[in-house]
Amino acid sequence: MKFEKFACYRFWFLVGSQDLYGKETLDKVETHAQILVNSLDQAPALPFPITYAGTMKTSTEIEHIIRLANGDETCAGVIVWMHTFSPSKMWINGLSLLQKPYCHLHTQFNRNIPNAEIDMDFMNLNQSAHGDREHGFIAARMGLPRKIIVGYWEDLDVQQHIGSWMRAAYGALISKQLKIIRFGDNMRNVAVTEGDKVGVQIQLGWQVNTWGVGDLIREMESVSEKEIDLLVQQYQEEYEMATDQIESVRYQAQEEIAIRRFLDRENAMGFTNTFEDLQEMRQLPGLATQHLLSLGYGYGGEGDWKVAAMTALLKTMTADLNNGTGFMEDYTYDLEGGNELSLGAHMLEVCPSFASERPRIEVHPLGIGGKEPPARLLFEGHPGKAVLVSLVDMGGRLRLISQDIEVIKPILPMPNLPVARLMWRAAPNFKEGTQMWILVGGAHHSTLSFDITEEILEDWSELMGIEHLHIGKESSVKELKQQLKISDLIWRIQVR
Ligand code: MN
Repeated sequence: MKFEKFACYRFWFLVGSQDLYGKETLDKVETHAQILVNSLDQAPALPFPITYAGTMKTSTEIEHIIRLANGDETCAGVIVWMHTFSPSKMWINGLSLLQKPYCHLHTQFNRNIPNAEIDMDFMNLNQSAHGDREHGFIAARMGLPRKIIVGYWEDLDVQQHIGSWMRAAYGALISKQLKIIRFGDNMRNVAVTEGDKVGVQIQLGWQVNTWGVGDLIREMESVSEKEIDLLVQQYQEEYEMATDQIESVRYQAQEEIAIRRFLDRENAMGFTNTFEDLQEMRQLPGLATQHLLSLGYGYGGEGDWKVAAMTALLKTMTADLNNGTGFMEDYTYDLEGGNELSLGAHMLEVCPSFASERPRIEVHPLGIGGKEPPARLLFEGHPGKAVLVSLVDMGGRLRLISQDIEVIKPILPMPNLPVARLMWRAAPNFKEGTQMWILVGGAHHSTLSFDITEEILEDWSELMGIEHLHIGKESSVKELKQQLKISDLIWRIQVR
């Protein structure tokens, strides 16, 4: 059984062959293809269903199936495999029309060569080794972006690569539908949270629009006491009520209901606000935003709509995994030589999907903004390998930055810190990793995810046509500087 939200999309599996082989061989190709696709469809490493879409023998068939794939909203991508030799001039007209993410699986039906039995009939039936080379050539010649996965189809690593690419393809599809609501504008004078919203919509499909905070306040006024009662009851079930200031908690519930109604009415997947523009709202949404994040909505503080969208997107791409994905900010450091650590948090809005313990609802004053003390969730993050992701606008082009991190259990209790927090060690090490993040222009805001991977981000960036720079254990400042010089050239001339 596939995860419910993923089950309404499917990937089409196209097998390449040609008429030359005759019916007997083509029947075998068909049987093999169905066995392979059914097995992949059942594989837990593939989060999405996969459907056998036929064995292609002529250019007419190929063009027809590509047009069908393009027109089918439930088709999230196309995977091809040449079981036999499939002359690639047959594929040109079809592939030139292809608008869906494209993956070339280079495998063969049999794992081993049957040494004792092998004859020319076997050789002619099982010739992916050269059929897929002919196919690879035409995709290279046409300059088509595609994912190439090599290996035996029953092997876990091959299935994991397919699964990873499926998430990226799904992310490309969701990107084209993604809407973000901004309540108010960005925090004044901040640079990195700005960006070209028209350019982003052309490139990524994101629709980012602003509503006045007054519109949200009016929505809050229409929330009933009964609705607040029900949500507070839900808070009590999910979290530990560690405050007697129930009115503050009820106010957060009122904010959450109003924001959620707004988002759902506009079909939006995330939102931003800023403590600088709350108008008559009495509290900055804290618990409200945290609970919305836990439900899968994206959020960005201080009007940061790019991080709100990335958070919504990465949550959606990994919605079946639940190891924790949310909005994050590099806050402060522990600079103990050789064991330097980052302490990440935000004013309030840390996603409870990171929690290592049952979150506590507490009410504390906020140092800035001059509003009432807001209710918020407090917890420590759980340990594990994760990735920080930041999308920045470089002026006419977008750059996606990611970095491997190791989240650790915070070294000491911090009894006076009234926000949820995570502590981590950046790759390849604190000094070089942080130098590289700053060198490439990575923001102080990011999406932290225990579920996303470099591979998914790389494939997604390629599908969206944007630059991706990853900082991992192999990265070095020297090589990154070289890479930046080259990619600055490449991406500058690719500006639309
Ligand atoms: Mn911030």
